[in-house]
Amino acid sequence: MSYIVNRNDRLNVLVEDLTHDGAGVGKVDGYPLFIPGALPGEEVDVHVTKTMKKYGFARLLNVTKESPDRVEPPCHVFSECGGCQLQHLSYEGQLVQKRKTVRDVMDRIGKLPHVPVHAVKGMDDPWRYRNKSQIPFSERNGDIVSGFYRTRTHHIVDTDVCIIQSEVADDLMTALKQELHGLGIEAYDELTHRGMLRHLVVRKGRATGEIMVVLVTNKKKFPQKDAVVELIKKVVPNVTSIMQNVNNQKTNVIFGEETICLHGKSFIVDSIGDIDFEISARSFYQVNPEQTEVLYGQALEYAQLTGDESVIDAYCGIGTISLFIAQKAKEVYGVEIVPQAIEDAKRNAELNGMDNAYFEAGPAEVVIPKWYADGKRFDVLVVDPPRKGCDEELLNTILEYKPKRVVYVSCNPGTLARDLRILEDGGYRTQEVQPVDMFPHSSHVECVAWLEL
Ligand code: SAH
Repeated sequence: MSYIVNRNDRLNVLVEDLTHDGAGVGKVDGYPLFIPGALPGEEVDVHVTKTMKKYGFARLLNVTKESPDRVEPPCHVFSECGGCQLQHLSYEGQLVQKRKTVRDVMDRIGKLPHVPVHAVKGMDDPWRYRNKSQIPFSERNGDIVSGFYRTRTHHIVDTDVCIIQSEVADDLMTALKQELHGLGIEAYDELTHRGMLRHLVVRKGRATGEIMVVLVTNKKKFPQKDAVVELIKKVVPNVTSIMQNVNNQKTNVIFGEETICLHGKSFIVDSIGDIDFEISARSFYQVNPEQTEVLYGQALEYAQLTGDESVIDAYCGIGTISLFIAQKAKEVYGVEIVPQAIEDAKRNAELNGMDNAYFEAGPAEVVIPKWYADGKRFDVLVVDPPRKGCDEELLNTILEYKPKRVVYVSCNPGTLARDLRILEDGGYRTQEVQPVDMFPHSSHVECVAWLEL
C-alpha cells in the first residue's frame, strides 16, 4: 500500500526537480511536495505544512545530503525577501536549471523534442545588474523602514543593501531612511493612508552613468522638498534628474499621474549598442541593460537582415528592438498597446536620426491585420509579447500571411512553447531556441526562438 502524506508529517525526501518559482520538488510515493529552499539532488528532512489532493507543501528542516551546487546566499535577507529565488544555487547551477526548464516545456508543451535549446547565455558578473530600483518606504514602531516586499505580502523586509541593484540606490535608500525624520518627513503608512514618502525610484543609465531619482509622494504639497533635494545632491553630487511623482490613491500601483521636476532634467539618456534612448520617470525600459544587448543581438542574428527587408516589431514597447533592427533593415513597423510608449518610440527614432521606423499604438492583433489589409507585406516578424504570450488572432494573422521568418522573444517559456506548437502546425519550423539570463538569482528566463516557413 502506498504511503499517504498528512499535514504535520516529518519525512526525509529526495528532491528531484525545481519549480518555476524556485521551490524544490520531492516525491513521496509519487505525491509531489513543494519544498522552498531545497535543491535537486538533495535529501532533506521536511515538515509537511499543507496537503491538497494532488500535491502538498513542506518546510525545509535540515539538508541530510547536500547538492554540490548549493552555496551560501550572499544576501543577508535572502530567506525573507521575495526579490530573488535562487541565491542558494551557484550561478552555474542556475544556468543549468534554467536551460532544463526551457527544454522541459519544449518537450512537454511544444512537443518539440528535436529543437535544439542552447546553453543559457549568462553574465560574467551577475551582481548589481539592475538599472532601476523601486523601493517602498513605511513607518514601523516609530522608525522608517525601506527595502523590498516579502513574497506575496506587503510586509517590507528592511534592508540597507540589495546586491542586484546599483550602489547608488543603496546609498540613497540608507540616507533617506536615516535623515527623513530629522527633516520632518514621515514615510507613508498604507493602513492609515498618512505620511509623505511612498516609494524611492532610482534609475541609472549603464552606458552614460546618468542618474534619476524619483520621490513618489502621497501629496503634491511637499514643503520639505528643497531640503530633500539638497540631501540627494549630497549623496549623489552628479545627479542628472530629481523628480517628484504624486500618488494619493489607495493602490498598489507605484506611480500616480502627475510628475514634477525638482532638479535638473526630466529624463536621463542611456544607450544600447549604438542607439540612444531618453528615459523618463515612468518609461518602460529593460532593467538589465548588459543582457538586453545580448538578447537583442540574438534576435538580430536570427532575423538575418541584409538591408532589404520590411520587418514588423510586435509588442515593441518604446521601440528598443525596432531601432536595433532599423539599422540593418529597409524599414521597421513597430506596434505597441501603450500610447505613451509609442510616443517615446517616435521620439527615440528621431533622436537617433532614423527615418525608416514607423510606430503605431494599438493591439498588435488589430493593427497588424490592418497593415496587411492595406497591402503592406513583411519579410520578417519579430514578436516580444508579455507573459501570456501572443494573442491567438495575431498567430492566425501570421499563419494567413506567412512571413518567411519569425523571431520570437519570450519572457515565459511555457507560453512560448504553446505558441511555437501553433506556428509549427501552421507550417513553420522552429530552428533553434537561445535562452538568455536577464534576471540572475531569480527564477525567470528569457528566450529567443527562430522559426522559418
Ligand atoms: N520589446 C519591448 C517590450 C516588450 S514587453 C522591449 O524589449 O523593451 C511587452 C510589451 O507588450 C509591453 O510594452 C506591453 O505594453 C505590450 N503589449 C501587451 N499587450 C499588447 C497587445 N495586445 N498589443 C501590443 N502590445 C501589447
